[in-house]
Amino acid sequence: MTSAHNGSTENGAVSDKITVDNALDNVDVTQFAIHDMRAHARAIAQGNTVVVFDTTLRDGEQSPGATLNTQEKLDIAQQLARLGVDIMEAGFPAASPGDLEAVKMIANSIGRRVRLDRDGKVAAPPIVAGLARANKNDIDKAWEAVQGAVRPRIHTFLATSDIHMEHKLRMSRDDVLETVGDMVQYASSLCQDVEFSPEDAGRSDPDFLVQVLEIAIKAGATTLNIPDTVGYTTPEEYGGLIKHLRDNVPGGKDVIFSLHCHNDLGLATANTLAGVKAGARQIEVTINGIGERAGNTSLEETVMALYTRKPVFSLETNIVTTEIHRTSDMVSRYTGIVIQPNKAIVGANAFAHEAGIHQDGMLKHKRTYEIMDASAIGLNQSTLVLGKHSGRNALRAKLEGMGYHLNAEELKDVFKRFKDLADKKKTVTDADIEALVGDEIYQPVETWELIKLQVQCGNNVIPTAVVTLHNNKTGEEITEAGFGTGPVDAVYKGINRIIQVENTLVEFLVQAVTEGIDANGDVTIRLEVPDSRGYSQTAQGRPRRRLFSGRGVDTDIITASAKAYMQALNKMLSTVDNESSSVNIAADTAVLAPAVS
Ligand SMILES: [Zn+2]
Repeated sequence: MTSAHNGSTENGAVSDKITVDNALDNVDVTQFAIHDMRAHARAIAQGNTVVVFDTTLRDGEQSPGATLNTQEKLDIAQQLARLGVDIMEAGFPAASPGDLEAVKMIANSIGRRVRLDRDGKVAAPPIVAGLARANKNDIDKAWEAVQGAVRPRIHTFLATSDIHMEHKLRMSRDDVLETVGDMVQYASSLCQDVEFSPEDAGRSDPDFLVQVLEIAIKAGATTLNIPDTVGYTTPEEYGGLIKHLRDNVPGGKDVIFSLHCHNDLGLATANTLAGVKAGARQIEVTINGIGERAGNTSLEETVMALYTRKPVFSLETNIVTTEIHRTSDMVSRYTGIVIQPNKAIVGANAFAHEAGIHQDGMLKHKRTYEIMDASAIGLNQSTLVLGKHSGRNALRAKLEGMGYHLNAEELKDVFKRFKDLADKKKTVTDADIEALVGDEIYQPVETWELIKLQVQCGNNVIPTAVVTLHNNKTGEEITEAGFGTGPVDAVYKGINRIIQVENTLVEFLVQAVTEGIDANGDVTIRLEVPDSRGYSQTAQGRPRRRLFSGRGVDTDIITASAKAYMQALNKMLSTVDNESSSVNIAADTAVLAPAVS
């Protein structure tokens, strides 16, 4: 079998890639099942590989407005597998039938598919974890969702801080100890891989934690996750807590200690690294650090710190770092959560040196200002790539080189967009192509499609838009006009007259994809379903708002705005459709509201 990376010609590289993909389908995946979980955990606990537990699809998805549909979750899960995450927490199955179904689909597909590691060798599929509160119903639902994976995991949790036990759980310490023992044992009777988290460990009494964790280990847990749920600790405290627990919990040296930090004080990455230094071997992270409030520890920051400062840590991860940029971009697109330009590792300015500002000095002494290569995270800096005379094969080879594996239909759509763009713009850059692929491929199922848009605006005229939409379900085509305070407002009013679904625009952001007056405009918006505050709850019982994001890319920002609006409305429509055919989420959660049954 030839490697995907050594094709000598562009076309050779493409066909090699296909050969590898087909060959992977024939690998017997069951050989990767873990037979002795205790031995597996001990090897990790005592080794020098930090396993990466990605919770973008669970904790990350709890960010306001990050609601993802099932197809989007599957796409992200597939990319996370390519990125090399060891474990993915695919969701909170007890939240709703839709959540359960999404986790199940991920377990049965991504959880059963081998992949290639950093060196191009066949690697095990990721462990697929489902979150469950410490009650039988949640644990049953989690098991139902993950059991199809070759490596399934149940992750159950119960709060152990005095403030949570008293005000949220209304349980005594003894009650908590008993429930942890019973529920971890119950989970272990279903699934050999059980992770337990004492919620709000960062504010729990360390000696009580020792008791709780001893019971969890005896009941069968092999991973102990220590969450700083409210992002309160400092690196010294958090690292000290991990050390205290590893030293004092009986059996603690044979299980995997895991870190889960929140970024309320901007310390999530620092705390996680302090925990790793203290001996933890699992990090719980999200792409771009998304998550509730200020978010979770970011995968890219922690992994690149371990990678760039190897002599300090002497530890490895299994992450394929060259997939970081692409994963980050995909998660940002799907969730509509834009990355701040100065964000470490994945922000637009993180490698701005290479964009030409200091280029002269940089070329001579690259290390003067840079501690990492942009190529290490998969950021391709070449500018002049393709022009209007480039053919479909050149585009495909380019996309393959960038790591995008499109099917024939997707390639056709992207090629059409590429040709349109190349007509308007002299050179098409990598950033343009990534924006096109994202805009074309990362799309929800479209009920309504934008067919035609005509806008009149200027000085002393009332901005007017004429919009034609096609309904892909019924086949009808409708044209309407809208007047507004500006062209975007006029377009949105025209679209609203056709689609007629109540919504409130809460965010509107325009960015340029590349430099110059002919740059692609990238519009991100967020819509809220009116009166949706508290429509649903997170795993920790906090209310969620119902927001939908949309993103559109075009050289014309009015068209990009229309596309973004259509995407958000289509998401809203497809989610509402799915829910009316299943159990109501809010009602379902209310029944389960007591954290312990
Ligand atoms: Zn969390």
